[in-house]
Amino acid sequence: MTILPIIKHPNEILRQVCLPVPEVDDPMRQLMDDMLETMYDAPGVGLAAPQIGDTRRIIVIDQVREAEEDAKTPLFFVNPEIIWSGQEIGEYEEGCLSIPGVYENVLRPTECKVTYLDYFGKAQQMHCKDFLATVIQHEIDHLNGVLFIDHISRLKRSRAMKKYKKAQSELG
Ligand SMILES: [Zn+2]
Repeated sequence: MTILPIIKHPNEILRQVCLPVPEVDDPMRQLMDDMLETMYDAPGVGLAAPQIGDTRRIIVIDQVREAEEDAKTPLFFVNPEIIWSGQEIGEYEEGCLSIPGVYENVLRPTECKVTYLDYFGKAQQMHCKDFLATVIQHEIDHLNGVLFIDHISRLKRSRAMKKYKKAQSELG
């Protein structure tokens, strides 16, 4: 497996609407394995294909941060689609591997139902709650060119982006 470079904001790839995948084949499984490895290495709990420069509708998630080898619970979603969202809104502090160092509270539905193709190309449906619901909505946003900073107030965003740009320029 290969650890891939993660694309950082404000790269335009992160703003593209990604394309549906016709089927899940071996090269795509290889890509999903690489995405998972990249996510664990970062470390993060979710990664969408545009974050590694691929504009297809693919995401990987493992809710357990820095999972031990035998405790890993990877989830693979191809062409994920939210078909239902709950009424209740919850707040989580979100971050993003493409906007390192920025953490802001985001409001989202606490439950959603998602249809998708799994690692083997089989059609599946999942009822996601709480943290998983937050992560999957964040990742599906990526497939639509949306970042979590788009969900916060303009004032908070400009403050966060000022800090982010400064930190990025100090990194060179
Ligand atoms: Zn993200």
